[in-house]
Amino acid sequence: MREIKREIKWPSVSMKYYRQPKGNQVDFKDLPLYFQKGDVVEVARALKLLGFNVIPLKVRDGKLRPAINWGELRENPLELFEIDRYFQDAQGVGIITGKSSNCVTFDIDEPEKFDTFYPLEKLKKEAGLVVATKDVGHFHVYFSYSPAFAVNKNFLKEIGAEIKGEGGLVTIFSTVSGQKYELERAEGLYPIPELLGEKLLTLMGPKEPEGLAQGGDEDLLQKILAKWAEMTGYIPRERKPGVWRGLCPVHDDHEPSLDLEIRNGRIFLKCWANCDAEEIKKSLGTGRT
Ligand SMILES: [Zn+2]
Repeated sequence: MREIKREIKWPSVSMKYYRQPKGNQVDFKDLPLYFQKGDVVEVARALKLLGFNVIPLKVRDGKLRPAINWGELRENPLELFEIDRYFQDAQGVGIITGKSSNCVTFDIDEPEKFDTFYPLEKLKKEAGLVVATKDVGHFHVYFSYSPAFAVNKNFLKEIGAEIKGEGGLVTIFSTVSGQKYELERAEGLYPIPELLGEKLLTLMGPKEPEGLAQGGDEDLLQKILAKWAEMTGYIPRERKPGVWRGLCPVHDDHEPSLDLEIRNGRIFLKCWANCDAEEIKKSLGTGRT
């Protein structure tokens, strides 16, 4: 009966979970408490219970980076019971954006520039989750997932911000001194405001029509596979029917992290490290000319 005597000094996520496994165990408004307490495992658990796909981060070469190979996590997020083990020695919590976290994130690196595109104060009021990052004046603004913004786009030049859509990675919490992330607002995930959405869609431009491959998918595939293997020194493997995985030619890739699929003459590329598909196409020689 030791358990009964044990005082719970803090709203323990695991205890809440244990007691009411079916309820909504953590509320967004509880998040600041977890952040203040600063226990990386508890923060990760709370975020997990709020529906985020969390991954442990550790400092490498002075930067917080994923502590595990996270490609697989995008489709198979860590389970609640795995959080303890994976976050034990972590120094931060990352979130994989997109469907698996039900969120899209805007990474605002140049607030002044962004402000001329869309008023920053307005944005911060409209968003249900706003995080001030380790870099003073920089923000991560979270909205609920929308397939229209399930892209990873670097618009630093245009609006001083990046869109982290499907399979992006953002840091939300850190225990590293001098690299704190602070919650400015934690209410929930709201849809992307209509006006902002429209402006972003305009910025993103029309969906590109891919040229139809001559000679069919199979020919195109063989051509690309040959070029891909030659460029990277690695023969792509068919990971599942029609989906080929190999080394990404755009980033310094040591573990195959680029997926390629060809359907009806269209080339679908997914680099799990978030390289721009256009960049990859260019280097594979299949970009638009
Ligand atoms: Zn890449």
